[in-house]
Amino acid sequence: MRPDDVSQVVVSHLHSDHVGWNLKKEKLGWRPFFPKARYSVARLDWEHFHKTAAEPNRAYLKETTTPLLELGIVDLLEGEKALTPEVTAIPAPGHTPGHMALAVVSGRERGLVLADALHVPPQVEHNDWQELGDVDPALAVRTRRKLLEQAEREKALVAVSHFTPDNLGHVKNTGGRMTWQPL
Ligand SMILES: [Zn+2]
Repeated sequence: MRPDDVSQVVVSHLHSDHVGWNLKKEKLGWRPFFPKARYSVARLDWEHFHKTAAEPNRAYLKETTTPLLELGIVDLLEGEKALTPEVTAIPAPGHTPGHMALAVVSGRERGLVLADALHVPPQVEHNDWQELGDVDPALAVRTRRKLLEQAEREKALVAVSHFTPDNLGHVKNTGGRMTWQPL
């Protein structure tokens, strides 16, 4: 697969470690790394992060994200949105205001891309454990609980950004105890 084979990029949220491949710099300025793609970002995240774009710790946005708007290739999503017949972006707020997960359907199989709704595997059992970067910790707990219950109920294949090297797995409920079962 080449960059111009990609038609849709979904940015789960606007932290610096999730936006690095949006753009590349060329002589005439910033160009999309995936030249034929639309980029989807939650409007809540766009507004939250761009309010503070002038702060030094948000300077990375000017080189990774902000030009997407000028290039006219970003869709600012509000609420749940079907991106294709198989892939739906679903609000998963708490880590950031507009943090998004993806629900994937393929035949009878289900997938969930949970991005940063969790950071370490013990949070599958201890879903009230907080990550220091969660902007709204109480909301993050409610979102985490809801998504884990959905993953367990649907027997979904789950992807979590920071569970390296076991990013893919299933959520199992064994006698009321939720655990992470890596592939
Ligand atoms: Zn994050």
